[in-house]
Amino acid sequence: MLKTQEQRLRTHLEALGAIGALPEGGVNRFTYSKEYYEGVELLRKLMTSAGMTVQVDPVGNVIGTRKGRTDRILLLGSHIDSVPNAGIFDGCLGVLAAVEAMQTLEENGVELKHTVMVAAWAEEEGNTVVGLLGSGAFAGRMDSLTNAAIEKMEALGIKRESVPAALFPDLDKIDASLELHIEQGGILDQEKVSIGVVNGIVGIERYDVTILGTKNHAGTTPMRLRDDAMQKAARLIVELDSLARETDPEMVCTVGRLEAFPGVANVIPGEVRLTVEVRAMEPASMNRLKKHIETRFPEGQCSLRTTFQQVPVPMSSICKEAVSKSAEALGLSQRVLNSGAGHDTMILAERIQHCGMLFVPSAGGLSHCPQEWTEWRDAANGADVLLNALLELDQKEDAEFQ
Ligand SMILES: [Zn+2]
Repeated sequence: MLKTQEQRLRTHLEALGAIGALPEGGVNRFTYSKEYYEGVELLRKLMTSAGMTVQVDPVGNVIGTRKGRTDRILLLGSHIDSVPNAGIFDGCLGVLAAVEAMQTLEENGVELKHTVMVAAWAEEEGNTVVGLLGSGAFAGRMDSLTNAAIEKMEALGIKRESVPAALFPDLDKIDASLELHIEQGGILDQEKVSIGVVNGIVGIERYDVTILGTKNHAGTTPMRLRDDAMQKAARLIVELDSLARETDPEMVCTVGRLEAFPGVANVIPGEVRLTVEVRAMEPASMNRLKKHIETRFPEGQCSLRTTFQQVPVPMSSICKEAVSKSAEALGLSQRVLNSGAGHDTMILAERIQHCGMLFVPSAGGLSHCPQEWTEWRDAANGADVLLNALLELDQKEDAEFQ
């Protein structure tokens, strides 16, 4: 089996990680910043020496192309922009492992049937304009770009027309897309499993919930005569936690913000507003929690407003099989899991039928912080699986992608 070079991948990750490195630890490499374009130039160099032709499209996506025998395309990639004070693996691993895979093919004189495109999607993290801008523009999915986002872009010298101009004209030639990413959670690390085969990217729903009670004097109102909105909220929060656990082992539910009114020590709260966020692969699981909130209290005492909704994105079975088969052939342990975080693949999947993702362990489940870490061997395992899954997909008949 073809294998990538761990040491070279490490050198490249460290070199990219040094761009935007902060003296106190961590990395700032925001899209369209000086550091971002330094990263783009490094990538251009690495892609070129791996035998690719490189283009930077109008929104700043870096796309390396390696010609195959046909014009059918396999797409690999992730992102090189960062959150503030980031680690060096998030996004960068997926891009540099794909470049490493291309370098390995070059060195071994392997010609593929498919043309391979390796992309570093601009602005995945959304610190400069809006999240998933690059992959969205590539896939023609940015119709909903807000005026605020467009203003930010124009202030950076990126024209409004750039977004439609970045739309890739040959989306229908892309047979499949694969993204390697660090897990950013602790499942693989805790279970000592090398490769996560991503089943899907979970759906997200966020609700603003308002619970009403009766505002009254905290000293003169005996316990039996109270209608305390905070007590109702507290019960609901505990119930949602249990309900999430019993409904779906893959589901998560979070109450991240809570405000009491009038919000003083000596008044029984007459109103509590809280946010509920649920994430799950199964829409039915999310619905069950939503229903519980809506029907928990008598009419008029509780209202729910949906503020954000993102449907679950299942990964394609031929991609999952290719990843799983490669991990097995390489003798690496694997497990199926969902992605609780959003990724570029989520947007690409709206236009590309066969999308897949694979994860490697994040030490301690930490990410989006300077402590974010993946062992070099784990990173290289991910690159090896990515490479061999690509070869696996390349050998499929055209009809299998239909
Ligand atoms: Zn990422």
